[in-house]
Amino acid sequence: MEPGYKYAEVYIDIRSLSVDHPFDYIIPHAMLDSIRTGSVVIVPVSNRKEIGYVVRVKDKSRVSAGALKEIAGLTGISPVFDEQMLELAMWMSRYYVQPLTGVLRLFLPPGRKNKRTLQKKGKGYKYRTMIEIDRNAYGRAADDPGWKRSKAQKRILDRLSQSGSGMMERAMLLKASSSSAGSIKKLIEKRLIRQNKRRVRRDFRYGGLPGSGGTDITMNQYQRKCIDLVRSSLESRESRKFLIQGVTGSGKTEIYMNICKKVIASGRRALILVPEISLTPQLFSRFEKMFGREVAVYHSHMSDGERFDRWMEILEGEVGLVIGTRSALFTPLKDIGIIIIDEEHDPSYKEGSMVRYNTRDVAARLSEIKNIPLIMGSATPSVSTRYMVENKKDCTLMRVPVRARSSKKVERQVVDLRSIDRKKEDEFITPVLHKAIREELEKDNKVIIFINRRGFSNFVVCRGCGNVPRCPACELSYNYHRDSGKLICHHCGREEKYTGVCKQCQTANLFLAGSGIQRVEEKIRTRFRDVPIYRMDSDITKKKKSHQEIIGGFSAPGRAIMIGTQMITKGLDIEDVTLVGVINCDGMFSLPDYHMNERAYQLITQVAGRAGRKDKEGRVIIQTYRPDAGVIIHLMDEDYEKFYMEELENRRELSYPPFSNLVNIIISGHNASAVEDGAKKVLDKINKDIKINIDMLGPAPAPFYKINKFYRWHILLKTKEIDSLTAELGESLKSHRKNKDIRLIIDVDPEWIL
Ligand code: ADP
Ligand code: ZN
Repeated sequence: MEPGYKYAEVYIDIRSLSVDHPFDYIIPHAMLDSIRTGSVVIVPVSNRKEIGYVVRVKDKSRVSAGALKEIAGLTGISPVFDEQMLELAMWMSRYYVQPLTGVLRLFLPPGRKNKRTLQKKGKGYKYRTMIEIDRNAYGRAADDPGWKRSKAQKRILDRLSQSGSGMMERAMLLKASSSSAGSIKKLIEKRLIRQNKRRVRRDFRYGGLPGSGGTDITMNQYQRKCIDLVRSSLESRESRKFLIQGVTGSGKTEIYMNICKKVIASGRRALILVPEISLTPQLFSRFEKMFGREVAVYHSHMSDGERFDRWMEILEGEVGLVIGTRSALFTPLKDIGIIIIDEEHDPSYKEGSMVRYNTRDVAARLSEIKNIPLIMGSATPSVSTRYMVENKKDCTLMRVPVRARSSKKVERQVVDLRSIDRKKEDEFITPVLHKAIREELEKDNKVIIFINRRGFSNFVVCRGCGNVPRCPACELSYNYHRDSGKLICHHCGREEKYTGVCKQCQTANLFLAGSGIQRVEEKIRTRFRDVPIYRMDSDITKKKKSHQEIIGGFSAPGRAIMIGTQMITKGLDIEDVTLVGVINCDGMFSLPDYHMNERAYQLITQVAGRAGRKDKEGRVIIQTYRPDAGVIIHLMDEDYEKFYMEELENRRELSYPPFSNLVNIIISGHNASAVEDGAKKVLDKINKDIKINIDMLGPAPAPFYKINKFYRWHILLKTKEIDSLTAELGESLKSHRKNKDIRLIIDVDPEWIL
């Protein structure tokens, strides 16, 4: 091979390509200086041009020179990742059993996911056309006694010379001088004015919202201890993981900000991850207030353009602190000194599309690669995280058991739905709840009614005793199938005849649970006529602005009712909310998913936290058929520790996480029998290829059997050797990915098994 040549290993971004390895290309001399790890290049493949990602530059290639082609071009934005991020991507590729190119796509700038937009440098920026006066030329012309100009031209020149900068946006100028494009053109020809384009920064800032913390806060002893512990990790550059367990209002955010300050002062940068759902404007603006223009906000409710601009600023090193949702993890932030994950238990940290990564686990991996601390914060940590920090050497649990500022007590009350007389009383708006709503509204307070969307599936519950029929093998609730009159376990496929009679109390009281949010809304509307009523669920808030509009309306002074799903649990920091009602708490526990107890505990704690924020006393009413269930009792007592211990024992018994890892393999397609068939083939393949010890459940129809015309089956694997399992799975199922009629999804550490 000729000396002086260099070669690049390139992963080619073609979806249909089943190979998951790099190809060698020759780097043309002209590109020698610009191509490196993370460069996004254009390469010839057969007779087409494709996008590729450079993972390595080297002096030798094993392929004979004649067989190698040259890189055809470099895209506008590179490099999109560095060596460390590549290491992270490779880990993700292995652990989540995904081709590397699929993972690398996560590192691309927003809105830049296809070939054409990637190739155009500068496209994606927003420009404005500006007109600028040439004051010198204008002065000379004006001095010339023979100077001829039209009235319109005079108006344009006057307008411009009056403006301080001598510059105006073209469209505005035309309007202000009521003149035409022709006049502008003439003036340009005479060189009296210039036209040029200016890049516009699409800012995304929250501005000064109320509720921000001051800079003159003196940390309490717990906060100080947390800060000291993290600081010593920062100084010794170790990848320690911290869990700050502290109720809402215990001052966690102040801790984060304090640590970020230290990191930035030392010349490094900070990454703060927050949950997806709607944004906590208050949180963002607190950071903006403290860090000013150092902060880049980065989340999914921003437009591609807004995110693109932030991405470029991050790439260019203009930003000291990124605060955003899970995709912020893949922005090109350099010299990260700390990663913080707020509300670490939140399910939105799990990505649900192609690469089903969990932000928390990826961030933990990144902190190891970079040797920096990771802070996770939560009032109700996920059972797995809590277990990990208690049992691993490189982890530290820090508890903040008090609120930073005293606040009023929140009274919690249970309504036993078994005692409701359904002939006279409503089981959604029970008399107790109705009375409480009325009382609060009379005092001009606000009320939140919480409904759990996820609860509306086909499970049955006994009205007599609260029993939910469960599969004896999986301890997960049965799904009711009306057509066959059966109760079916959607994990292992076990089934029972549905008789309507409860096995526990022997009465014919089994019924199909669930009620839509609209129905609850109607009921509320007829009962409370003159009160402003708002509804917040994902149907309503798909539009960018409406979420904030709804919150704005609800937080206006005076009484109001908000009805909503999970979406209302976060960020809503409104003082006058004094009552939170949880309508159908049981729905949550009854879904066939092993961590429903955990979800319910976290969710209800979070919803309850919306009541009694400042000076007013709050109350929470929880309606349930199972008031004596452990999780409800611990919720009432606000006793996370008891809840955690009990839940951990349940998990240990059945060997669910954290005592194992799960892998959910979902097989889906338009043709029901082909899907069932495909699931069985996958099962055979796994039986044949997987050598390590696993527990296998299924194949069975997925709990959500049909979504959007797709039939879904799944196979659930349980293992104590997750790294070996993912490696073996990757090999085993390679060929299966190519099947056209059937989609195969491998979900490692699934957040929902639905
Ligand atoms: P969390 O993030 O745990 O919900 P925050 O950091 O938001 O808690 O703190 C809750 C409130 O208490 C905020 O208004 C914050 O400014 C205030 N606060 C936090 N720490 C202190 C402190 N040491 N002294 C006084 N006020 C504090
Ligand atoms: Zn079962």
